[in-house]
Amino acid sequence: MFGVTGVEGVAELTFLGLYALQHRGQESAGICVIDAEGVARVRKGTGLVADVFSADDLNSFIGTSAVGHVRYSTAGGSRPQNAQPIVVRYARGDLCIAHNGNLTNAQELREALVEEGALFQTTSDSEVIVHLIARSREETVEAQIRDALSQCEGAFSAVISVGDTLFAVVDPRGFRPLVLGRRGRGHVVASETCALDIISAEYVRDVRPGELIRIRGDEIRILDDLPAAPRVSPCVFELVYFARPDSHIWGVAVDRARKAFGRQLAREHPVDADCVISVPDSANSAALGYAEESGIPFELGLLRNHYVGRTFIRPVQADRDFGARIKYNPVREIVQGRRVIVVDDSLVRGTTSTSLVKFLKEAGAREVHFRIGSPPVRFPCFYGIDMPSRAELIGASKTVAEVEEILGVTSLGYLSLEGMLNAVEAAGPFCDACFSGEYSAPLVDMEKGLVAIQAPPGC
Ligand code: 5GP
Ligand code: MG
Repeated sequence: MFGVTGVEGVAELTFLGLYALQHRGQESAGICVIDAEGVARVRKGTGLVADVFSADDLNSFIGTSAVGHVRYSTAGGSRPQNAQPIVVRYARGDLCIAHNGNLTNAQELREALVEEGALFQTTSDSEVIVHLIARSREETVEAQIRDALSQCEGAFSAVISVGDTLFAVVDPRGFRPLVLGRRGRGHVVASETCALDIISAEYVRDVRPGELIRIRGDEIRILDDLPAAPRVSPCVFELVYFARPDSHIWGVAVDRARKAFGRQLAREHPVDADCVISVPDSANSAALGYAEESGIPFELGLLRNHYVGRTFIRPVQADRDFGARIKYNPVREIVQGRRVIVVDDSLVRGTTSTSLVKFLKEAGAREVHFRIGSPPVRFPCFYGIDMPSRAELIGASKTVAEVEEILGVTSLGYLSLEGMLNAVEAAGPFCDACFSGEYSAPLVDMEKGLVAIQAPPGC
């Protein structure tokens, strides 16, 4: 998510911000521009940021504030109607919302709203927030937003606009990141600091868990917090995989956290080998940490094609390794006849890894020691990371020996949960439900049988 107000060229700045945040979602992108009269205009479409918006779009998009979003579907599926920001006109003016995270009581709220006559246009949990705001009996817009969000359970970081006023908010547990920045006299909010860097905005601070901020032009005001949660629990998987390594979230430099995971991994699972290679790009920092701690040289043994889009034509004779083959290729000169340590950031289904190990062996690797910069993913995420059902999670039911067998590796080592959490202790306590099964926010819809655990589309 990205939001900006109080500067010139808000559409272009939002485009750039989203461009830097592309790793957070590749399914759809949207920009809503609001003019000085508070009139909102939105353009959104499926695909990457650079494909959805043309220079003409940006030039014709004149306004004083803007809100942007890139989508990665977890709740609600990947249909085009679910693209964000969601923009509606209600009693107080044009309302626009960009939401990151998953509400865990969206279905319950939705059923109650439908009962009262609400007409939903999408299957996205985020639309529930729109209806709650529009139907709130509170007097002020601020109180309506607080009223709506106080009823939401689970994960939500959001950028909301009503007329030309922006609001930035994070749920009381603080699952997803949101940072505040300045650019000249204007203000910027973004999911990660890499979106501030690209527009040369200055980082001010993270939006705190439960915090609701109102921004109008160059005036910023901290409103009353949302009701507090029993504990704060930012998502540790943001540091493991999701966020960009050049970002700082929750006061942590993501690259530093991953390097610390890699160093700890080397301490927990040392092995004699000739080189350390990474599964690029997500594991680069962890692999460098492993190499540093072990003293074994880091080499670029796997290459990644950066131009792989979401859709490509699958040849008729495609084998089961096709998905990985199109993305990765080993460097034969580095791996041939050698004992290699391969570091990946996480093991989810094990499908990519199985193919990678096969490629490395075909390229002549003598031994393949797989090292994972996080514990086994054993439980699905209900707070906004696309983690499949337990049946598909290789770490949910398989022992290390069984996974070694399935992947065909010489050895396998996961970072321990304790080792991971200790490495980033200062920024915690974290939500580690995908590793531990300890869900920090109630899973209302599931407990009430309103939603089944489904396998979300491809990891
Ligand atoms: P696996 O080998 O388990 O099939 O896939 C593991 C790889 O998936 C790792 O390289 C990790 O970086 C990546 N990964 C982890 N979580 C996600 C996710 O939510 N989405 C995508 N696209 N990749 C993920
Ligand atoms: Mg990866």
